[in-house]
Amino acid sequence: MNHNPQSILKTTFGYNNFRPLQEDIIDRTLEGKDSFVLMPTGGGKSMCFQIPALIFEGITIVVSPLISLMKDQVQALRGNGIKADFFNSSISLEEENEVIDRAMKGEIQLLYLSPEKLISVSSTWLKKLNIKLVAIDEAHCVSMWGHDFRPEYTQLKVFRNSLPEVPFMALTATADKSARKDIEEQLGLRNSKLFISSFDRENLSIEVKGMVPKKKKLSEISRFVEQKRGESGIVYCLSRKNTEEVAAYLNEEGYSVEFYHAGMNPEERERVQTEFINDDTKIIVATIAFGMGIDKSNVRWVIHYNLPKNLEGYYQEIGRAGRDGLPSETLLYYNMRDFVLYSQFAEDGANSAMQKEKLSRMLQFAEAKSCRRKILLSYFGEHLAENCGNCDVCENPPKDFDGTILAQKSLSGIARMGEKEGITILINVLRGSNNAEVHEKKYFQLKTYGVGKDVSFFDWRDYIVQLANQGLIEIMYAEGSALKITRMGWKVLKGEKKVKLTYPVTAEEKEKRKKKPKVVRMVDDGEVNQDLFSELKKLRYSISREENVPAYIIFSDKSLKQMAVDLPVTENQFLAISGVGMNKMEQFGEEFMEVIKKFKDVAKPVKIPTTLETFNCYKEGLSPQEIAEKRNLQITTIYSHLSQLYSEGKEVELEKFVEPKTVDKVRVAFNETGREIALKPIYEKLNEEVSYGEIRLSIALILKNE
Ligand code: ADP
Ligand code: ZN
Repeated sequence: MNHNPQSILKTTFGYNNFRPLQEDIIDRTLEGKDSFVLMPTGGGKSMCFQIPALIFEGITIVVSPLISLMKDQVQALRGNGIKADFFNSSISLEEENEVIDRAMKGEIQLLYLSPEKLISVSSTWLKKLNIKLVAIDEAHCVSMWGHDFRPEYTQLKVFRNSLPEVPFMALTATADKSARKDIEEQLGLRNSKLFISSFDRENLSIEVKGMVPKKKKLSEISRFVEQKRGESGIVYCLSRKNTEEVAAYLNEEGYSVEFYHAGMNPEERERVQTEFINDDTKIIVATIAFGMGIDKSNVRWVIHYNLPKNLEGYYQEIGRAGRDGLPSETLLYYNMRDFVLYSQFAEDGANSAMQKEKLSRMLQFAEAKSCRRKILLSYFGEHLAENCGNCDVCENPPKDFDGTILAQKSLSGIARMGEKEGITILINVLRGSNNAEVHEKKYFQLKTYGVGKDVSFFDWRDYIVQLANQGLIEIMYAEGSALKITRMGWKVLKGEKKVKLTYPVTAEEKEKRKKKPKVVRMVDDGEVNQDLFSELKKLRYSISREENVPAYIIFSDKSLKQMAVDLPVTENQFLAISGVGMNKMEQFGEEFMEVIKKFKDVAKPVKIPTTLETFNCYKEGLSPQEIAEKRNLQITTIYSHLSQLYSEGKEVELEKFVEPKTVDKVRVAFNETGREIALKPIYEKLNEEVSYGEIRLSIALILKNE
């Protein structure tokens, strides 16, 4: 047996490098010590116990409350040639006996058990096994403080104490400081070391939209998914009714969609979930209950149709996107109604004060005007040094202005209506709308009536929410959301204090930013051959049907994309693909390489586009001159390639190859010759002093930067 974690990572799982902390955790476990692993969903927790499990000679017990996840993990492990089994209430008596038999014979490396099963067998056959490691997944379930408390978990301490020499590992994605202590105690961990990895999921973009009316929200969502056709995503809703409505809407628009909620029977839920995992259904509209038990790595987007109850839940839900590390989008819609509704729920529930506090933190996040990722991470105790560049605020930093007059107008409106009206009527009064309510209450007689005509309804709404966030206005949820003026608000009204407001971001601006390329790392999508990628996906799908496992268990999207870039056709090349270990190479290598070979043959006459070859040389750090020599081409040709790449948006620093002065000269000549992209007239116009290559470079720069 191989005893080197690094080489197991490569040969068994097909990965080249450990993620932060994985190696330390593995080393500590191999020394026989306890660990507490706190990593975000998708952070790579499982690897921390899976590799030791392969090194230890004996069995590793994995406790998990999520039955469907168990099956997935076991399938994934088997896909990599690892002997894994699970034991829970979903298997028949006969299967149970088979598993026990295999375990007793020492034929299982990892055995997944639900806590209740573990407890029921811990003093029978389980005792006889050569247990070398115990991993407790979703460890927060042991804490009564948490939101997923499971009573069976509290009995795990007895199990821990019965195996004093065995290292235990607790793993979770959610636990604040006080919960951590509680978990360690409840599980009886010994001298455990805490490993916290960054909770930042850089590949997830974050966007929040407030106060979007329902109709608009639906049509926006439809447009959003249209752009992502064929990719998997989840829409989270607050109520069952909502899930059905939204699913019906999207279904009518022609998308592959199903709803999912706790009111459906278990078989139906199982079916919907399986179809999603297998890529047969692309979109799931669900209440928060969905996703707990699934490990689908290629979820490309998550939309929240309503405001989540707290940031923990929100982060966990958006975390279901992009587990494979590829760029994925998340979008949160919220409105005040969600907030009010939840506040009322919280009022009646247990831990009312804490729930309300969490809810208001959630709202603050949604209404924030600074980097959202910073706010989110700081909530989890992590501090980003810089703004993330991948959230809507970073992409569209708000501009502020002196909003004192606007603030005074709204505050005065509130005062004149006796601090007993809500936001909508206030805006109607400010804007001078003559609707029934304004009329009936004779608000048209107020001095503030119509003083804010020039500001749109939605902008007013944005400003008033900002005023509330700044503590000038209080929204009295218990009094029909009436607006009241705070002490600070009165100061502003009396002119003793100034107010800064920020301009609302217009839909147009948001659209504009969409076109900008996002921070894409790892595989550059532009280089992925989409035809080949979809061929590979088809092959993966047919194999997954034959083998009756989810498609991503065969290969992740990320692996397929890399194949469609690197075009591996030998075993060694194939093994170099991330996610391809020996077992997958042996099982599927030939079939996939066959498709790639065929593709290469067809594509041969074209070969790799010559510009792309130049780009590859450029990325290796060669200068244009060196590229020309290496490729045996004219320097002008290389400049022309680089210009083309630059125009296509590739990262090429053209500015390096041509002087600004030259660009200016070319600009004049280019304009004078009628802006035609013909080099000769410009060359002549400039007295043959500027080379063709430089002209080409200059034109690319001119066109791209106008
Ligand atoms: P978690 O249990 O923390 O939610 P997983 O263990 O399911 O996360 O890991 C998420 C994904 O990351 C899986 O597809 C896993 O194979 C992959 N992964 C884990 N470790 C590495 C690594 N070192 N390099 C590349 N991918 C990894
Ligand atoms: Zn940001």
